[in-house]
Amino acid sequence: MHSKVSIIGAGTAGLVAGRELASRGIGTVIYDQKKELGVPVRASGIISINGLKMSGIAYESAVTNTLRGARIHAGGRIMHINAREPVAKVLDRKRLSDICEYEAEHAGAKITKGRRITGQMMDRLHKDSIIVGADGAVSNVATHFGMGPVERYVLTYKAEFNVDIDDPGSVDLFFDKRAFPGLFAWMCPNAKDLLEVGVGVDSGKANSKKAIERFIAMKEVKEMVGSAKMIDNGASMIPLRMRKRIVDPDKRVLLVGDAAGQVKGTTGGGIVYGSAAAIMAAQAIHDNISNGKSLSEYEKMFRKRYGSDLRLHTSINRIYSSLESRTVGRMISVMNFLGMDSFISKYGDMDLPSLLIKRFFLRGLV
Ligand SMILES: Cc1cc2nc3c(=O)[nH]c(=O)nc-3n(C[C@H](O)[C@H](O)[C@H](O)COP(=O)(O)OP(=O)(O)OC[C@H]3O[C@@H](n4cnc5c(N)ncnc54)[C@H](O)[C@@H]3O)c2cc1C
Repeated sequence: MHSKVSIIGAGTAGLVAGRELASRGIGTVIYDQKKELGVPVRASGIISINGLKMSGIAYESAVTNTLRGARIHAGGRIMHINAREPVAKVLDRKRLSDICEYEAEHAGAKITKGRRITGQMMDRLHKDSIIVGADGAVSNVATHFGMGPVERYVLTYKAEFNVDIDDPGSVDLFFDKRAFPGLFAWMCPNAKDLLEVGVGVDSGKANSKKAIERFIAMKEVKEMVGSAKMIDNGASMIPLRMRKRIVDPDKRVLLVGDAAGQVKGTTGGGIVYGSAAAIMAAQAIHDNISNGKSLSEYEKMFRKRYGSDLRLHTSINRIYSSLESRTVGRMISVMNFLGMDSFISKYGDMDLPSLLIKRFFLRGLV
């Protein structure tokens, strides 16, 4: 019986796991190699309002903008999606990290910063504690404990510009298999005077720095950015598929967040699934310690709740990644003609695409 948990990595997933474990009375230490958590900021902060509620994070003071729509661009066509209610918040990622850190510590977790955990240290910690690998896209915990590879990564690059934005309630997504293979490019109003521009490209097929230079040179971006100076930029990566295994009950190792590849294959968003997984992992560890249930309950719970949606996200990503942008553009025209834009506006869910499909079969187009 183990009543101690070592979490490697204090990103959102590790900190939510720490909060949940400590609040269940389980002795928890979170280790991070960074001296200051949450910096440098290399990721965006578009998170569905439903997902934020589910995460249990008191996120309100990190909100910098509210989104209710998206414009999908491909092959010269645009689909407008406009929900009646706000669907997502844009959060300041450093502030979000500070809130999660406070919540984990307040619940009783100990956070040790500035300590990179090596394989040898993992083995030492492993002797008397359960290990939670929350160490991000290139997880050393997953490698060290033989949890199998992540099959696909995308490389990202993002930049910010101080500009006045006419419609700060909508995000623009650009699909073009040749320019942005594997994912897409985006323009997101982080605030009404702060525009984020970014790209995600398949790690084996393109260079994210060159892709963003091409994107910034596009007419639609030039019109928005004008002569404004780039104020922040940086590269990162996103795991686009979940690992085959996210728990090893015999070794007492669990993976959460990007370490597990718990990311939406359509957009690369990982905060909602990573937080949900962290909560489930904490529950499974609690049940293991208090009544001997297998830690594999964690993976069962996660796949039962999110497995079909993760597969749908992956299938949608496969479709748009394989089609020429002209073909996606034609599909957009047909979908607009059939009223799919209104249907998606009304019933779409950023995190759970299966809901849209269920509603489609239940109601047909409206
Ligand atoms: C450009 C970009 C845009 C994105 N946009 C969105 C978005 O709009 N919405 C959304 O939901 N998601 C988005 N994501 C994804 C989201 O940022 C990630 O899914 C999320 O941050 C993953 O959190 P995590 O805690 O699993 O991992 P991370 O945030 O990567 O945290 C891992 C932590 O582990 C630490 N660590 C690693 N190795 C060790 C070690 N050996 N010892 C000690 N510490 C270690 C690291 O220092 C780090 O702090 C985006 C990602 C990128 C790159």
